[in-house]
Order: sequence, then structure tokens, then C-alpha cells
Amino acid sequence: MAPDDAPLAPATFAREALLAAAQAVDHWDVIVIGGGATGLGAAVDAASRGYRTLLLEAHDFAKGTSSRSTKLIHGGVRYLAQGRIGLVREALVERARLLRNAPQQVHPLRFVVPVYRRWDQLKLRVGLAAYDWLAGRYSLGRVRALSAADTRAALPNARTDGLLGGVEYFDAQFDDAGLAIALAQSVFDHGGSALNYVSVNGLIEQGGRIGGVRARDQISGRALEFTARAVINATGVWADDIRRMAHPDAPPMLAPSQGVHLVVDADWLPGSGAMLVPETDDGRVLFLIPWQGKVLLGTTDTPRTDSPLEPRAQDDEIDFILRTAARYLVRAPGRGDIRSVFAGLRPLIAADPDAPRSELSREHVIRVSPQGLITIAGGKWTTYRLMGEEVIDRAAREAGLPPRPCRSAELALHAGPALADAPPLHPRLALTEAGVRHAAACQFALTVEDVLARRSRALFLDAAAAAEAAPAVARVLADELGRDAAWIAAQRAEFAQLVAGYNVEESDRAGA
Ligand SMILES: Cc1cc2nc3c(=O)[nH]c(=O)nc-3n(C[C@H](O)[C@H](O)[C@H](O)COP(=O)(O)OP(=O)(O)OC[C@H]3O[C@@H](n4cnc5c(N)ncnc54)[C@H](O)[C@@H]3O)c2cc1C
Repeated sequence: MAPDDAPLAPATFAREALLAAAQAVDHWDVIVIGGGATGLGAAVDAASRGYRTLLLEAHDFAKGTSSRSTKLIHGGVRYLAQGRIGLVREALVERARLLRNAPQQVHPLRFVVPVYRRWDQLKLRVGLAAYDWLAGRYSLGRVRALSAADTRAALPNARTDGLLGGVEYFDAQFDDAGLAIALAQSVFDHGGSALNYVSVNGLIEQGGRIGGVRARDQISGRALEFTARAVINATGVWADDIRRMAHPDAPPMLAPSQGVHLVVDADWLPGSGAMLVPETDDGRVLFLIPWQGKVLLGTTDTPRTDSPLEPRAQDDEIDFILRTAARYLVRAPGRGDIRSVFAGLRPLIAADPDAPRSELSREHVIRVSPQGLITIAGGKWTTYRLMGEEVIDRAAREAGLPPRPCRSAELALHAGPALADAPPLHPRLALTEAGVRHAAACQFALTVEDVLARRSRALFLDAAAAAEAAPAVARVLADELGRDAAWIAAQRAEFAQLVAGYNVEESDRAGA
């Protein structure tokens, strides 16, 4: 239940009204810094328990890692192979909860693993059966061995020479940025507030304890201050920056690792369902996954010592994905077939500095600084709710909030209306004018990038088409937000610059 003086869930999300309502609250119970999966999950958990909750996101919701995932809600077949049974089991339980609580965003997906060595078929069948067994009553379908003919029917473009058969199993798929927006809306549904484009640039200390944050509204440039009983740092690969605001000498907690995905047209993966390549040259797996009318190929695992907001795919990462996919396909895509390439940074928890990134923990950790700043990092999208539950339990204890039971396990997330069919703004995209207006009015979109990268996934699906649609999107958005011609021009220029990092053909031309 929402507390009496919390902002009410508005029908539309006019930004000035949301900011004014947030400033009118005297003292929050919980402030969450960071609007990715982790922060949004924590904010929904806190708000739905009835704690007065404010989330602040420096850019857009899911601008960081949370819009750049493989889009799987899964236990992680690879983690099972590494013997991380507890991690896999808890993720499979969360998978079931998400399918129930967010049916608009999450759905089951069939996977087929083609097999070329007899020993692999047995190994995969046993391994995947164990994966399914761990899901128990949450299983999405029985693991089955497929004949070569059935495998060819499921994956008509899979390499046929030496094909012995396949193994079929089920997992779940989602739209990561879409779920993030549904979570932000859910924060409001439960009486909390979540503001994008408000960056935290300092912590307020009262009597040696962290009691609030200093922030800046990135749209107006205004300085803001908010106080709270508990401050949670959920800023992913940027978590060390916030920790150092409390403790300048705090040793690094994060070891980012970059993962790249390529997006190609659907006809590169005809048939039904996704394909898993169980062994890449670097001992990992490669997914080929149908997603929003395209195919997603990925990913990589490349250590990084920096954490740019817009990480760029390296040429050798792109080549690695194309080369690996080509080994398993009859007809394989080349660089010229890539519609978009995107990179994200995994917020892995630092361990031994010499350990390979792929062996760093995928589990999450919660750390509390001597001044009471609560940091949560690591984990994965699939377990965002559990992470939220654990960090709010901890925050309540640390800040002496009245204990209230977690409700998020059974909580249906915000479901948006289905928009009527209308002509799209671009022949290769599904985005309509009504979609842009809805994004601004009901989904917190404030920029052309918000609409084309995260309310619709145009930038991730077809970067060139997104670039071509940007002027029309800018015009509609300006009309909706009351912006002028100079704003439209600036937005168009900014988006054109951003697209260059997603459009392989354009960057190849620029580099030639
Ligand atoms: C390539 C790749 C593939 C993946 N695939 C999957 C998958 O298929 N399934 C799965 O379950 N998981 C997957 N993951 C993992 C999952 O995406 C991440 O664990 C999750 O998105 C991390 O969320 P986060 O909220 O911790 O970080 P982020 O999403 O990065 O959010 C942190 C936020 O904090 C904000 N911020 C930073 N500084 C400040 C500040 N000063 N003030 C306010 N806000 C600030 C940032 O702008 C950012 O939005 C994948 C990860 C990668 C990289």
C-alpha cells in the first residue's frame, strides 16, 4: 500500500510535475541511485512494501547495461556446466515468477542445439535434463533429443555436414528495456517516484551517516537535494564512482566485461526458435536468437578497465561472432549484413585481478560502507527481483525502517495498453506516431534516443532505419514535449552521432 503523502500514480508522466512532487516530499525512506534492472527492482520492492521510495537515474532508464543484454530470462546453461547449482536454481525460480508477473514482457522460447559429435549429444542431453530438473515444477518443457531430420526442420540454416541430431530445451525471452520501463511505471503504481535524467553527484552526510543525495536535473541543469533514511547505490559498472563519494579510497568492487551482439535479418535463422552453439573457441556459448523480427547473435566476454556510457564493439569481437556463427551455418552473414551492433558492460564483481573475466562471479553482492551507503552490484537481469528483495531487507535493517514483508514475488508488473495499428514512421520499423506520443506521455521518454533506442528498439534492430526515422521522431516528440526547432536540430545531430556506433556499414565507410 502507498503511504499517504507519497506521489500518486499519475495517468501521464509530465516531467515537471513529477520533479515537483518528488521535491515536495520531506524525507524519503529509501533513495535508489541508478535506474537499470537492479535499481528499478529495488525501487519496486521498496515502494510495494509501502516505503516512501525515490529512484534517480542519471540518463534514461536502462541506458546502461540493462538495455544491452542477450534478452534471456534464464538459469544459464553455462553456469550449470560450471557447477553453480544454487545460482541456476534461484534464477529458474525467478524465471517462473517473471513469466507470471510480466506476461506482456516475458515469454518462453524454444532452443535447439545442433550436435556434430556423438559424445556431445549425450553430454548435452544429460546437462540440459539436469537444467530442466533444477527448474522442477517451473519447467517450461521437456528436454528432447532430436533426430538429424528434426534438427534440420527446426534449424534449416544449420550446417548439415556431419549433423547427427540435436537437443531441444526451453528458456524465456524478454525485451530488457521494455521491462525496465514497466518497472519504472510500477514504482509509481505503488506510490513511489522514479526520475530519469537526474544524476547524483554527491552524498549528504549527517552525523557520520549517509542521509541523502545531491543531484542535478540534466534537463534544466537545476541542482537538487533529497534526504532519506537509506541510500542504495545500484549503479552497475559505475558503482565504484558512488562508493568513492562516501569513501574516496574505497578499493574497486567492479571488474567490467564487455559483451557484443550483432543483429541481422530474420532469414539468417529460418525455422522455429533459437539456436545455441555450445562451444566457442574461448570455451563459451554463442546464441542465435529470434528477437522482434530480427536475429540476435552473441555474445563476447572482453575485459575492460574503463566504463564508457556508450561502449563500442571492437572489430575483433564482431569478427569472432561472425566467424563462430559461420562454422555452424550453411549460409552465413557477413559484415555487410549486420543491421546493428551493440555492446554492454557486465557489472562483474572483482576477484583475483588475474582471473579470467568469464570465471568471475555472476552472483550479486551487497556491501554496506561504514557510513551506511548500501551498494548492490553484480547478478543478472533474471534475478533483479531477488536482488531487490535482499537489498531492501538489508536497507530496512540498516536504516531502522519498520519491517514490512516483501510483496514483489507475487506482484503483477505494470502492463501498458496495446496501441492501435497505424502506418509506421519508417517502412522497416514498427514505430508509429502514436507510439512516439505514448512514449513521451506515459513512458518517460524525453529524447529521440529514448524513443528509438529503448521505448522502441529501432536503434538495436536496424541502425540505418533508426537514423532515417529520427527527424520524424524529433518532430512528433517536440510537439508532445513543447520543444522548439533548435531542440529538434540538436536532437537530430546528437542521434546521428550516436547511430555511428551501432551502424557497422557506416563505421566501415568512415574508416575506409
Ligand atoms: C552482453 C550482456 C548480455 C547479458 N545478457 C543477459 C541475459 O540474457 N539475461 C540476464 O539475466 N542478464 C544478462 N546480462 C546481465 C544484465 O544485463 C545485467 O546484470 C543488468 O542489466 C545490470 O543491471 P544494473 O542495474 O546493475 O546496471 P545498469 O543497467 O548499468 O544500471 C546502472 C544505472 O546507473 C545509472 N547511474 C550511473 N551513475 C549514476 C549517478 N551518478 N546517478 C544516477 N544514476 C547513475 C546508469 O546511467 C545506469 O542506467 C547481460 C549483460 C551483458 C553485458
